[in-house]
Amino acid sequence: MLTNDQLAQWDRDNFFHPSTHLAQHARGDTPSRVIRTASGSHIEDRDGNRFLDAFAGLYCVNVGYGRQEIAEAIAAQARELAYYHAYVGHGTEASITLAKMILDRAPANMSKVYFGLGGSDANETNLKLVWYYNNIRGLPQKKRIISRWRGYHGSGLLTGSLTGLEAFHKKFDLPLSQVIHTEAPYYFRRANLEQSEAEFVAHCANALEALIEREGADSIAAFIGEPVLGTGGIVPPPAGYWKAIQSVLKKHDILLIADEVVTGFGRLGTMFGSTHYGIEPDLITIAKGLTSAYAPLSGSIVSDRVWKVLEQGTDENGPIGHGWTYSAHPIGAAAGIANLQLIDRLGLIRNASDVGTYLTRTMAEALADHPNVGEVRGEGMLCAVELVEDRNGRRFFDPGRKIGPQVVASMLAKDRVIARAMPQGDIIGFAPPFCLTRTEADQVVMATVAAIRAVIG
Ligand code: PMP
Repeated sequence: MLTNDQLAQWDRDNFFHPSTHLAQHARGDTPSRVIRTASGSHIEDRDGNRFLDAFAGLYCVNVGYGRQEIAEAIAAQARELAYYHAYVGHGTEASITLAKMILDRAPANMSKVYFGLGGSDANETNLKLVWYYNNIRGLPQKKRIISRWRGYHGSGLLTGSLTGLEAFHKKFDLPLSQVIHTEAPYYFRRANLEQSEAEFVAHCANALEALIEREGADSIAAFIGEPVLGTGGIVPPPAGYWKAIQSVLKKHDILLIADEVVTGFGRLGTMFGSTHYGIEPDLITIAKGLTSAYAPLSGSIVSDRVWKVLEQGTDENGPIGHGWTYSAHPIGAAAGIANLQLIDRLGLIRNASDVGTYLTRTMAEALADHPNVGEVRGEGMLCAVELVEDRNGRRFFDPGRKIGPQVVASMLAKDRVIARAMPQGDIIGFAPPFCLTRTEADQVVMATVAAIRAVIG
């Protein structure tokens, strides 16, 4: 077996890590963490250290680690047929079955599923479908996409442009001009502290409408949003937000893409975030929870309304010129089927709702009196603690102090609990696997409280 030192050396010499400080890592200033195995809500490194993973990887291992049913389904599919493509009407039993299972669970008025590999490429598909849709409708100018500041929609050129976080734009010449950003529904960070929630919702809808009118509705094709802002801070929308936004979009003939990469398949305690909030999307993006990350697979769920135009387009122009080699990969599809069956059989969405609500409530109670906790918020199995310098005047910490990352590092070092320092602001994020127990939720809360005390006082 390789020694840890050997692996660390190979890692530094050969491995280009995503979302990593490259120079620090090359110098050996950031730890090489080599994970060896995992089970339930815990992961284990090469030295046998166990960690409670309260972020389910990158909020994706929804059913928990080590599910043998999914491993068996993947192995059986690989033995039988590891690959065949899906071009020109081809398919496999697994990919056809999974498409049906997704539509059986999807919100109303959805028609078909297009499969990809990850959330970014699924959003890229959705953007291309939107453009195709408007070209077929004879509206070639109607192409730009509105996204929200703090939204996260991927790391590609257009999808990285949709992402409304500075770190994903800086030095990459993004965002591209086809994308414009509007205000995030982030009540805690509203500019005007006098605004009630209802007033803030009206303000967001008005800001969107003003943007559309300024840019011209005939130039804007779609609006994209996560039902709950994820990487931008884990922020559930204020009541009435989606209704207000949708009425603006309908008025201006703008399609709505619901990015359910995080919220799809149960994370909010309901199958889809769209049904949770009464959103009626034209396109839905799914990934992560579709296979609980046991294999890479994503999808674009296309509504009846969009599908009809796509069909018409191919009658006029021939086959749709959009396909990946690995679209509908049978191993991903087999993982997806086993994953959705497991979610149903074990009632995991119910647990996500029950234990998730317990986690957020217990966290809020434990931190209620702390002067540096501005807000504890959550929905289903998503929770966030926002740290501030002074909660009365709502003053934020200087980002240079890296309070959030310090708290997360302290939790890991002292209590071996993994949370995530969200990238913009001192926000500690939690998105555990759906199988989290109440005892584990208590551990997460205790580790968070201890780390905040250790770092801030
Ligand atoms: N959309 C959302 C809402 C996401 O959270 C993510 C990933 N965190 C993506 C899209 C991109 O997915 P991927 O990293 O699989 O490309």
